[in-house]
Amino acid sequence: MTTDRQTLVDWIDADRERLIDFLQAFIRAKSPNPPGDTRQAVEHITNFLDQEGLEHEVVAPQAEMPNIVAAFGDPVRAKGQDDPNGGRHLVLNGHIDVFPVGEGHGWTADPWGGEIRDGKIFGRGACDMKCGTTASIFTYAYLHRLKDRLKGRLTLTCVSDEETFGPWGARWLIANRPDVHGDAMLNGEPGSPYNIRFGEKGPLWLRFNVRSRGVHGAYAHLSEGAVKTSMALIGELMALEDIEAKPSHNIARAIDEARDYLNLAMGEGASDVIPKVTVNIGTIEGGLKVNMIPDHCSFEADIRLPLGVEKETIMAEVIKIVGDRTDVEFEEINFTPPNWCDPYDDLAETISAVAKELKDIDTMPIVSLGTTDARLWRALGIPAFNYGPFAHGMGGADEHVEIEEFLHIVKTHTLVAYDFLMATG
Ligand SMILES: [Zn+2]
Repeated sequence: MTTDRQTLVDWIDADRERLIDFLQAFIRAKSPNPPGDTRQAVEHITNFLDQEGLEHEVVAPQAEMPNIVAAFGDPVRAKGQDDPNGGRHLVLNGHIDVFPVGEGHGWTADPWGGEIRDGKIFGRGACDMKCGTTASIFTYAYLHRLKDRLKGRLTLTCVSDEETFGPWGARWLIANRPDVHGDAMLNGEPGSPYNIRFGEKGPLWLRFNVRSRGVHGAYAHLSEGAVKTSMALIGELMALEDIEAKPSHNIARAIDEARDYLNLAMGEGASDVIPKVTVNIGTIEGGLKVNMIPDHCSFEADIRLPLGVEKETIMAEVIKIVGDRTDVEFEEINFTPPNWCDPYDDLAETISAVAKELKDIDTMPIVSLGTTDARLWRALGIPAFNYGPFAHGMGGADEHVEIEEFLHIVKTHTLVAYDFLMATG
């Protein structure tokens, strides 16, 4: 290791108790969303930044859901320019809000206590994602101490309003603050230290309403009935699963190389589902009584788009299937595009190399089924990766993170940010 890199590792080792204390207190600073009031947790972060003498802005388009933005370093050279003094702009992003706890059923620890037991820190947000956000904050603080020697620019964004995909967090910053776009983004959402997430499938939800003539159940010659029409229509919609994804060569290679890993992590068959359009009929309602031919039926389809399939392709097919029937109407009720970046991008390779160096971990680039704020950067064509701890109890009872894993995430993020900025990109 170069001197700087060893210094960074030494600082983290020396800060072990401080890091643990920070995460415990971060968990105690409740920030469930809904309702999404994150001010107490934001204050915890700004207190730390103040102690470290780090300038920062609190950006609050919605008063109860503030975001924190801090940055140092030179304005970045234009991409592709060969400027020896120039550097790249890395953005560290993490969310502050967490899932709610409800009545706390099933918890053996106080969900807001930050209790340590068996080498683990328990509490809502322990893995999703106050561990990862702590890694971003400390990475920023450590690299700031080396700012005179670092090339490029480092930006920290701690955001609210992620858990409900609300408009006041990263979405607001991306739309209103081009200074947080950067050349690449690193985020510590949970997954596992064994994978680097470079993409996410996208959900497209459609609601169908089918009407027909309602008559007595014996008068089958007068009406087919809305439920039967819906059943036939659903059968036809399943053909959407045959739409072929056309991912780029790199994406196809990464998905193929991760097959065994995905089946192990998400159950046998996961590797077949990741690159494929899937159609789930999530709800269906119709009919009033067994001996009546129903005049109405409605159902909702959750169509998951893999990388390399456009919404327009799906919609064109749905319009074709519905054809000129006047008894069927449908509407879009939700859509998030599938998103990805190059799984072998320089930042991903840097994460992979550092994980190998620190813990001899062979990382795997993967596509996730869930959604994170990384999608917002990827939508702009900016490489954005998630590297975080295991998702123990995420969204459920006894959420926790192992202390050693937490420290590994902090070290990895810190060295990755250092290496990324020091390399000539
Ligand atoms: Zn999260």
